Amino acid sequence: MIDNYNRKIKHIRFSITSKCQYSCLYCDREGYSRTNELTVEEITKLCKILAEVLNVTRIKFTGGEPLCREEIAQIIQNVSDLQLYKDISMTTNGLLLLEKAEELYKAGLNRINVSLASLQPEVYKKIYGSDSLKTVLKGLQKAKEVGFNPIKLNFVLMKGINDNELEDLINFCAKNGFVLQLIELHKVSDAVGRNGDFYEKYHLDVKPIIEELESRADKIIVRGSMQNRKVFTLPNSAVIETITPSHEFCMGCTKLRVGCDGNLFGCLFRSDLGKNIKGALRNHHSLSKYEHIVKQVVDSREPYY
Ligand code: SAM
Repeated sequence: MIDNYNRKIKHIRFSITSKCQYSCLYCDREGYSRTNELTVEEITKLCKILAEVLNVTRIKFTGGEPLCREEIAQIIQNVSDLQLYKDISMTTNGLLLLEKAEELYKAGLNRINVSLASLQPEVYKKIYGSDSLKTVLKGLQKAKEVGFNPIKLNFVLMKGINDNELEDLINFCAKNGFVLQLIELHKVSDAVGRNGDFYEKYHLDVKPIIEELESRADKIIVRGSMQNRKVFTLPNSAVIETITPSHEFCMGCTKLRVGCDGNLFGCLFRSDLGKNIKGALRNHHSLSKYEHIVKQVVDSREPYY
């Protein structure tokens, strides 16, 4: 399905819970809802519908923290059993990876992104409100052992907090074979956008860093179907993907999002334009009825920046 800006929907980002053990300084509360979460059956049914009406084969589960959802392995297994998705991934804070990585891999999860904004225990605690860096690092090794590949680390850059750790993170990734996702702080959340001068204080323009990476890189690619993200390979074999909100970023957006309550929406920054599909999922509608709902949401997509 193609939106009004000629952007084809190629993948789904699905929040399965609002629960989280962390209280991240910058949290954007994506897919957040106070109302009822979709049940496991509703999630499975919606994944099937979306794959069929959109002809997509990629899905990423998120939260809140997706590993806080007790039935997470069952959800992955069910979606994998649909045999409609070639790429099932998840973004997680990593706290429960040590105990769950193997089960998730066996259930059919292919890839993970793990939030890691610092390698310093005190800084980690300040950013995430949790003293659990050691456990997350063990979880990462476990995830590598059981076979997840690639493993990407989400590094949200914050001025004066972790910007001095970029090289450490690059070296850590090179040494362990992880991919670094360098993410520019955005201000969509109340925690950032409506919190006094928080954004001005901590936001760092990633552009100069990108220019520097350009001069150091052996190889640069632009992921056209992934918000035009630039990916750099450095001489030490570190791979760094950059995520920075901009018009090019939005013009390359091919995602459809689902909130944990069944709100379908087309842009992280405009969840208010969504349509809730939970009620419709309880009925046995024809595929064309669901397609109509999805099409309305796809038609509401506009480049935000
Ligand atoms: N709890 C999971 C996790 O830690 O990955 C999933 C939810 S979290 C909202 C997903 C990702 O959103 C985080 O890894 C972080 O990179 C990104 N994120 C959240 N708030 C952000 C902000 N204000 N600016 C930039 N990235 C943000």
